[in-house]
Amino acid sequence: MPSRKQASAIELVVRCDCGFEARGTEDTLVPVVQRHGREAHKMEVSREQVLAMARPA
Ligand SMILES: [Zn+2]
Repeated sequence: MPSRKQASAIELVVRCDCGFEARGTEDTLVPVVQRHGREAHKMEVSREQVLAMARPA
């Protein structure tokens, strides 16, 4: 396990302009949205960018 501060257990939701929607806790959501960005939009999205797009579910 990488040593970093424990992620929040709050459920978040990210909605992409294309209609894609993902929800989950921070650690679940970030890789899902990053993969969507790469596969659907050829965009690299940082963890901070994902969290900036996220809203409480
Ligand atoms: Zn999208």
